[in-house]
Amino acid sequence: MPAKKTAAPKKKAAAKKSTNSSAKTTAKAKKSSSVRKTAADKRSTAVSADSPFKNFTPYEPAKGEPYMEAPQLDHFRQILHRWRQELMEEVDRTVVHMQDEASNFPDPADRATQEEEFSIELKTRDRERRLIRKIEQTLERIDQEDYGYCDTCGVEIGLRRLEARPTAAQCVDCKSLEELKERQLKG
Ligand SMILES: [Zn+2]
Repeated sequence: MPAKKTAAPKKKAAAKKSTNSSAKTTAKAKKSSSVRKTAADKRSTAVSADSPFKNFTPYEPAKGEPYMEAPQLDHFRQILHRWRQELMEEVDRTVVHMQDEASNFPDPADRATQEEEFSIELKTRDRERRLIRKIEQTLERIDQEDYGYCDTCGVEIGLRRLEARPTAAQCVDCKSLEELKERQLKG
C-alpha cells in the first residue's frame, strides 16, 4: 500500500518581506519606527492585547487640550467599539469555519489533524472572548470617565500607550514592575 501523502505540511507563508525599501524612503522613514515591535508580533496570533486594532488615526491633541476630556474619551470609545466588533466577527468566522469543515475527512490521520486545528481555534476563540469582555469593562470605565490613568500610581497612561493598548489600566512602569514580580513568584 503506497503511503500517499496528500496533506502537504502547511508552510507558513512567513516569507521575509525583503526590506529593500530603505533606499527610497529616507525622507519619511522615521515615522513608522513608532510602531512598537514586541515579542507578541512574532507569535502572530490574530489576537493579542498588545497588537490590537490598528485601523484608526492617532489622536493629535490640540495645544493645551486637557487630558481625557470628552474628545479623547470619544476617540478611545470608538477604537474599543470597533475593535470589539472586529473580534466578534472573528469569533463568528471561527464557528462557521468549524461547522463547514467538520467531518469532511474520512481518513483518521486527517481527522486528527483537523481536531488539532479545531482545538487551536477553540483556544483562540476563548482568548478572543476574554478580550471582548475586557474591552467591555474598559468601555464602562470610559463611560464613568475613569479611563487613562494608572490604577496603581495614578499617573496619566498617555495617548500613545493607550492607542497601542487601549485596555491598559496601568502605566508602563507599574505594568513592568508587576510583570517582574509575577515572574519572580513563578520562580
Ligand atoms: Zn503607574
